[in-house]
Amino acid sequence: MNTPDLTTADLATSDVTASGLPDANSAPPTRRSVVTVTGATVLAAGLTAATAAPATALSPVTTPSAAPAAVPRGTDPAAYTTVARAIVVFDKNDKSLVPSYLKAIESGLPSSGARASKRILIVGAGPAGLLAADLLNRVGHDVVVIEANDNRVGGRIKTFRKGGHENGEQPFADPAQYAEAGAMRLPESHPLLMALIRKFDLPRQEFLLVDVEVDNPTKRANRTWMHINGVHMRKAEYEEDPAKINDTFGVTGPNRTRTAAAILADALEPAHLLIRGKEGSALVEGWVKVLKRYGHWSMYRYLTEVAGLDTRTIDLVGTVQNLTSRLHLSFLHSFLGSALIDPKTKFWELKGGTAKLVDALYAPVKGKVRLDRRAVRIERDGGTVRVHTVSEDCQTGKGGTTEVFEGDEVIVTVPFSGLRHVAFDPPLTYGKRRAITELHYDAATKVLLEFSQRWWEFTEQQWEEALDSIEDGLYTRYKKGQVRDGRHLGAHRTVRDLGVTVPGELKECFGAFRPAVLDDPEASHVRGGGSVSDNANRFMFFEHAHPMEGSDGGIVLASYSWSDDALKWDAYADEERYLRALAGVQAVFGRRCEVFFTTKCKTQSWMRDHYAYGEASVLFPGQHTELFPDIPTSEGPIHFAGCHTSIKPAWIEGALESAVRTALKVHTG
Ligand SMILES: Cc1cc2nc3c(=O)[nH]c(=O)nc-3n(C[C@H](O)[C@H](O)[C@H](O)COP(=O)(O)OP(=O)(O)OC[C@H]3O[C@@H](n4cnc5c(N)ncnc54)[C@H](O)[C@@H]3O)c2cc1C
Repeated sequence: MNTPDLTTADLATSDVTASGLPDANSAPPTRRSVVTVTGATVLAAGLTAATAAPATALSPVTTPSAAPAAVPRGTDPAAYTTVARAIVVFDKNDKSLVPSYLKAIESGLPSSGARASKRILIVGAGPAGLLAADLLNRVGHDVVVIEANDNRVGGRIKTFRKGGHENGEQPFADPAQYAEAGAMRLPESHPLLMALIRKFDLPRQEFLLVDVEVDNPTKRANRTWMHINGVHMRKAEYEEDPAKINDTFGVTGPNRTRTAAAILADALEPAHLLIRGKEGSALVEGWVKVLKRYGHWSMYRYLTEVAGLDTRTIDLVGTVQNLTSRLHLSFLHSFLGSALIDPKTKFWELKGGTAKLVDALYAPVKGKVRLDRRAVRIERDGGTVRVHTVSEDCQTGKGGTTEVFEGDEVIVTVPFSGLRHVAFDPPLTYGKRRAITELHYDAATKVLLEFSQRWWEFTEQQWEEALDSIEDGLYTRYKKGQVRDGRHLGAHRTVRDLGVTVPGELKECFGAFRPAVLDDPEASHVRGGGSVSDNANRFMFFEHAHPMEGSDGGIVLASYSWSDDALKWDAYADEERYLRALAGVQAVFGRRCEVFFTTKCKTQSWMRDHYAYGEASVLFPGQHTELFPDIPTSEGPIHFAGCHTSIKPAWIEGALESAVRTALKVHTG
């Protein structure tokens, strides 16, 4: 960025009022300056926000701050209501749009109000594009879907699997295994997604966010590990005695003995109070207040000034609750997750992978989808829209083909990060161009490792049998931290049974990568769930919490990281990530799991993916009201869909909402 941050001194001498906030009457603050006014800045200026607890307070404030924060001048006052309605998916009369959207999904678009059949181009065959295509096709429109990818539809729903519509190559050593590169957990509280799963009759099973007992899967175990600041403890132990980890951050006062989750829940309470229990127009008004007070704030600023948390407590909450890498981003992004998804909501996963949903969406429109067609230019000429496309091999000028598609209207579902490289003639409006230029897309990277056995379900006795079957006394040597090289990588017979022989060079190399752990911790003996660590892996999940037919093995999502955490993985080429990720898993679960490592791994950097250009639009502070109102609006015959045009940008539900919204508009407009 070229714009320098405002320094503390700048703020102390210019735009800071007695409340510690930029003066609404002085020069309008930029988004950057608003972000920069942190609690630390306020303290440094010798000031404290009038309504917030002092930045040194150790217990969270539980009442909302009384006065709205200064909002940047120039923000359209109507934007707050527009965004509030989009959050709750209401129309202009504050009535929920969800029932009519559900009806469209269940029974198709209404016949009343429809115009004559139109030629509709849809750019992008992710869930938004595929659903819009199916809805419009069913009511007689002439639909063509233009997709850049040359072998696959589904966009950010991507399962590493054998077969499927993309005829994928077997990704892991075990032919039964598959794993998610993108979307993996499907909240019960997302009505359109649940309706589609019901409509297609897709087999599902619960996605276990918290691990359960192996012998009694209905019972929560909460026994996976937390590995933070050198402290290694089970999640249940942390819930009983949070101070053991909290002390390592220097957390003092009442929060010393409270879990990070409880501290965060309390911290968000002032914002929750503005919306809780409200319906209809009152709910919209509540969200308007949230947007006016905190819509221009980063999560860091909110936690500091409203919740009154000190930096040590924010470090704790950020590390344990996966907020650190997104503290500088919009407060709203993280808050919306907690506000729109009830903590008791069940999550589902689809048997066979989330791509089963894509297969089902693709089947009815397959003949309408043109693969290997990247849209690079969209022209409007009288009543005609033309989409100019190139094949993937065309882009380097080394051959390939170009093709122009013509229609009456076009629905563009390409993420705005990618639309930056699509030319529009005539140019789009300023508001849309600004949104395309500025909307922030965040990084997310996953590293998935295959193991020939689901060792996380083992008891100590099972470990002993498995390790001693490789070499007498190996169980004890691992236990005592006496294995100091990589010779046992993939050494268990079940790895060989899968046809894998680990090369000597890899074993030698791994000896250097191996983590600095002394004794192996005791068996996890859990099913499903995940672990949190402050090492580079950050969050780990056991994929397919449920036993898979015909397979004793499993996939570990060894690292799921966002933002800066993810970019540090992205610096490495795919193959370079695997040994590092394995070492990170071992630092938490112990060295011995390496004997089941099949060396067959998969990874996905969404920032480096040239079809997605990022995980999702995770907005900067202020972007909801500055940019969002211009994002979903149509420009003549050009309509915009995709999860970024909803307020659920990292959720399939947002993509589906946008598909129904645009299909209805095209059909009846
Ligand atoms: C790591 C990760 C985890 C996620 N986890 C979950 C989850 O657990 N639950 C959940 O509900 N959601 C999750 N999501 C979000 C979900 O995957 C997205 O919200 C959804 O896929 C968005 O659908 P879309 O159609 O808007 O965009 P996309 O899925 O991105 O589809 C856009 C399509 O456009 C194509 N395209 C791009 N550029 C062009 C061009 N120039 N010309 C032609 N075609 C083009 C792309 O190839 C793609 O097929 C996750 C996403 C990621 C990345």
